[in-house]
Amino acid sequence: MHLKYFLLKILSRFGLFLVALSFLLINKSTAENSLTDLSDDLIGPSVRLNSHWFGDKEVSKTLSILVMAGHADSQGLAGSGTSGEAVALKGALPMDSKISDELFWNLRIRDAVARIGKTKGLNIAAYDPGIRNIVDGNHPKTNWSVGARHARSGGYPLEIHFDSYGEHGFGSGLIPAITRNLNKVDESLANRFGRYPLFFRGGLGAPRREIRVLEIGKLEGRLEASLRNINSREDTINAISLEIVKALLIGLSMEEED
Ligand SMILES: [Zn+2]
Repeated sequence: MHLKYFLLKILSRFGLFLVALSFLLINKSTAENSLTDLSDDLIGPSVRLNSHWFGDKEVSKTLSILVMAGHADSQGLAGSGTSGEAVALKGALPMDSKISDELFWNLRIRDAVARIGKTKGLNIAAYDPGIRNIVDGNHPKTNWSVGARHARSGGYPLEIHFDSYGEHGFGSGLIPAITRNLNKVDESLANRFGRYPLFFRGGLGAPRREIRVLEIGKLEGRLEASLRNINSREDTINAISLEIVKALLIGLSMEEED
C-alpha cells in the first residue's frame, strides 16, 4: 500500500515534469522560428569598406550559375576556412572534426541554393571537387579551376563563404570578380548582402579567376547559434539560401523586388 502510493506520487510528479518540459520545448521552438525570416539582425553587419564598382551588364535569364562551397578543396591546408566563434572562442566541438565549421555550413548553403534555385527556374548547378585537400590550387578539380573554366565559357561561378568572427572578419557582402564585366546579378547580390571593394585584399585567388565570393555573414553570435541549434538549423539554411536565390532572380529580371 505504501509502495503503491509512493509510485503514484512519483508518476504524477514525472507527468507534471513532462508537461512542463513539452511546454518549454514548444515555447523554445516558437521563439526560434521567429529568427528564420532573414533579418539583417540574423546575418549580422555587412561590410563597411569603400567600394565603387557597379554591375550594369545585362545577362540572359538562362545564365548558367555554378554554386560552390568555399574551402571545399583546401581542408588541412592554409585557407581551410574559419572555425567560427563557437569553436575558436567558446569551446564548442566542431560540427565535423574532419572539416572547418565554415566548410560544413558552406556545403549546406551551396546545396540549398542549388535546390531552391532550380525550383524557381534558375539554370543552376552545384559543384563539389570530391577531394577535400588538393594542394595545387590549379589542379583541374579545384573550385578555382572549375570556376575559372565556367566563367570563361560565359557562366557565373559563385562561391559561398562565411566570414571570420570578431575583428578577423568584415561582414556579409559580395567580393566581385576582377573584371570590367560586372553584371546585374553582381549588383543585385551586392545590394542585398553588401559590397566589397573590387581589389579586396589586393585581389584574392577566386576573384582573379572571375569567381564571385559571397560572404554570407560572420560565423559568430546569433547567426552561428541559429545554424548550430538543431531546432532552427534547417529553417536558417533555407532562409539564407532563399535570400541568395531571390537576389539572383532580381539580377536576372526574373522577379520583381519586394
Ligand atoms: Zn571562407
